[in-house]
Amino acid sequence: MGHPIVDKIREAGVVGAGGAGLPTHVKADAHVETVLVNGASCEPLLSSDPYLMENEVDTLVRGLEAVMECTGAKKGIICLKGKHVRAMQSVRAAAERSGGKIEARELMDFYPAGDEQVLVHEVLGRTVPERGLPLQVGAVVSNVETLCNVAHALDGKPVTHRYLTVAGEVGRPMVVKAPVGTPVPEVLAFAGGAAISEYRVVDGGPMMGKVLPDASRAVVTKTTSGLLVLPPDHNVVLRKVMDPATVRRITNTICCQCSRCTDLCPRHLLGHSLHPHKIMRVFAHQELESEIAREALLCSECGICEKYACPMLVSPREVNAQIKQILMKNGVKWPSSGQETESNPFREERRVPTSRLIQRLNLEQYDTHPGYAGEIKPSLVRIPLRMHLGAPAVCVVSEGQHVSCGDLIGEIPEKAMSARIHASIDGVVESVADGVVTIRG
Ligand code: SF4
Ligand code: SF4
Repeated sequence: MGHPIVDKIREAGVVGAGGAGLPTHVKADAHVETVLVNGASCEPLLSSDPYLMENEVDTLVRGLEAVMECTGAKKGIICLKGKHVRAMQSVRAAAERSGGKIEARELMDFYPAGDEQVLVHEVLGRTVPERGLPLQVGAVVSNVETLCNVAHALDGKPVTHRYLTVAGEVGRPMVVKAPVGTPVPEVLAFAGGAAISEYRVVDGGPMMGKVLPDASRAVVTKTTSGLLVLPPDHNVVLRKVMDPATVRRITNTICCQCSRCTDLCPRHLLGHSLHPHKIMRVFAHQELESEIAREALLCSECGICEKYACPMLVSPREVNAQIKQILMKNGVKWPSSGQETESNPFREERRVPTSRLIQRLNLEQYDTHPGYAGEIKPSLVRIPLRMHLGAPAVCVVSEGQHVSCGDLIGEIPEKAMSARIHASIDGVVESVADGVVTIRG
């Protein structure tokens, strides 16, 4: 038996809403001094977290206090950018009400302020060791919506819905609440439909999001922070769909070894041994067993090198992602010393302002702070049994079974790291196939 709060988080199927979906009961089962709330919302165009901080701050604080209680943390710090004026007012007022237990911290408007290692450095002045976790410097970092879901878990309400931003080439850009499993075409239709005939949909932000291979079959998951509709030849899309052979050809022929990618790399600036320009060199010669190639394991894939730093339109991020995949498949590990590193003396001057990033990405014409437009009520949801890091949940319902919103449909397999899954609408289980439970309302 763990801490009763950790048990409630596990029962409710809470996973990290801002990243890869680490089950939150795993993260909350720790002892730290500080819980940082990551409200940086640093990906251009995404704005559901500022909406929640403005309108659901009491829920957020309740979730934060619960995680502070189960981790033994004495301090909770809600970190957000001052440009979100109304969210900042709400958070400051909540901090005052907490009597000093919770603090509001204003972040500079740069990317990637929300990279958890960058956030830890900005707020606590500590550096997470290479390939390490904030835990190693006494902190847990949690996303805004994750903590709201923790608060609901305390009341026995599981994760059934997701707040996300719909932006780019749509009729009405918006923040919207959708049941998990809502088909992407329904979300786009709710936002007024695509405003152009040919388009691609990015799941997530323009920097770290992925282009959906087939948006007509895709659904909202627990980790869908946004859906961006962009022309197929938009710079953001083209850099995400380049095939590996083209990446290699461009790297071999175009990289001029100017080292700008290294100069601006946020992880390099934290003092980590990551030198993307050197990795480009060894990648060109396919020396993937070298020490330098191993540095790719330290890359967060933030995309600064690819979309902002490189004057030659080369993609160190993609090169690192390819090398990482090969190294991890071969079981290669980074020999971390576990020591904090010393940050680069030029780190502060080299932070990339979000406004310049938006210009560079050619996103200036899009609404960067769309408002909340309500909740979608789809007639059918397709809920994947894996929306988190770890093993897929085991389906516990069968075809023809009636379910209500919040009923358990996927259980954590024995002794595995996983997360529970719940029905997100009332209805009948239409099918269970290929790791997906389809419910018709
Ligand atoms: S910034 Fe571009 S051209 Fe310069 S070293 Fe890095 S990848 Fe090569
Ligand atoms: S994507 Fe590029 S800039 Fe970002 S951490 Fe990796 S190498 Fe550094």
